[in-house]
Amino acid sequence: MNNMQIIRGFRDILPENIKLWQKVEKEAKELFEDFGFDEIRLPVLEKTEVFARSIGEATDIVEKEMYTFPDRKGDKLTLRPEATASMVRAYVQHKMYASDPVRKFYTIGPMFRRERPQKGRYRQFYQIDAEIFGVESAYVDANLIFLLNELFSRLGLSDLKAHINSLGCPDCRPDFQKALLNLLESKKEELCPDCIRRKESNPLRTLDCKVPQCKEALKEAPTTLDFLCKECHGHFETVKRVLKQQNVEFIEDKTLVRGLDYYTRTAFEIQTTSLGAQSAVAGGGRYDLLVKEMGGPDIPAIGFAIGFDRLVEVMEALEKSADKQLLDLFIIALGDAATEKGYYWSTDLNLKGIRCEIDYRGKSLKALMKRADKLGAKYVLIAGEKEIKENALILRNMNTREQISISADNPVADIVGAFKKNN
Ligand code: ATP
Ligand code: MG
Repeated sequence: MNNMQIIRGFRDILPENIKLWQKVEKEAKELFEDFGFDEIRLPVLEKTEVFARSIGEATDIVEKEMYTFPDRKGDKLTLRPEATASMVRAYVQHKMYASDPVRKFYTIGPMFRRERPQKGRYRQFYQIDAEIFGVESAYVDANLIFLLNELFSRLGLSDLKAHINSLGCPDCRPDFQKALLNLLESKKEELCPDCIRRKESNPLRTLDCKVPQCKEALKEAPTTLDFLCKECHGHFETVKRVLKQQNVEFIEDKTLVRGLDYYTRTAFEIQTTSLGAQSAVAGGGRYDLLVKEMGGPDIPAIGFAIGFDRLVEVMEALEKSADKQLLDLFIIALGDAATEKGYYWSTDLNLKGIRCEIDYRGKSLKALMKRADKLGAKYVLIAGEKEIKENALILRNMNTREQISISADNPVADIVGAFKKNN
């Protein structure tokens, strides 16, 4: 057992895999900014209460997945398993609703859940999270789903489908729950031990059970859609109408219930067919009661979280690649004087946006040419003692093998010029 190894379920995202992450992040940020969202950065550690209260005591996340520990003074702290709770905590704590309740935020960062690690499921994973506070209208529900759809299409992903459902509100949910409880009672012999427990603590979660026997027993279970009140029904109809109008494909999925307690009305998931079992790439929904429950005023809200790791995995499965950034220029400086000059040239070039490297190890021209090749350099600048003495450095285009001679007095300007001409 090697203690200098990474923790199970955690992983390093290595430079050779980072390009897709950067591409997704760039597209997401551009889109969010265009749609009027502001970035917010939140801590990864919060008081346990922040998550237990919001996500719900009887959810899988709070019951079995959180990293919770006492700090040195005994306060109970938790590594955030998701971002919405912290987002609401911050919105309330800073009274961000005071000047105008309508606020739109996004945040990107790591989340922690102690689940069984497997492909698409990690103990530290990343989410891209967006939330809209202060709007009850169904237009923003449609807008968020539209936004997700647009992001995925900009990333070239077409096998993703939005599944949407409505979970109702405190007016219509009790009737639904009564009907569901009746059914659970009548089928209790067939349910798994988890569902027997959920029957008491969190009946809605039984509809999301993955055990085949439970699925079979609950095939005919009542759904929230059958019980929607007039307002919730109208809200859901508007969401669907607007999505159709904007050509966003979706599936009305009455079995979609989501794993967190705070959702009301619209709930949605974006699912893929290319990842096998871990099919949800993003999930979200409306949580109109949560701001108040966490000590704020009665302000509605809605949001989503994209599973960043899974999104990248879908892109990898579809062989979407981001351009690998190659080296623009490799400086071959031979001898101490040339190396000193080469160092200043290289920093000047870096400042001018040219990705350039120099090797300080005093290797031979042949070895350095080999390294330039390996690094995929577009150009090589050769500055040997002879070139410096004759004031004629060699700039070689590695693709065309064309060589030009440039003065050693101000090679930076000439190199920038050559780049402007050829790229
Ligand atoms: P799942 O049903 O796959 O467990 P979830 O409902 O628990 O997902 P959410 O809380 O809705 O997930 O989080 C939003 C997204 O974050 C998910 O759709 C998924 O893409 C991603 N996600 C959740 N848990 C993990 C994890 N352990 N590792 C990697 N990605 C995850
Ligand atoms: Mg989960």
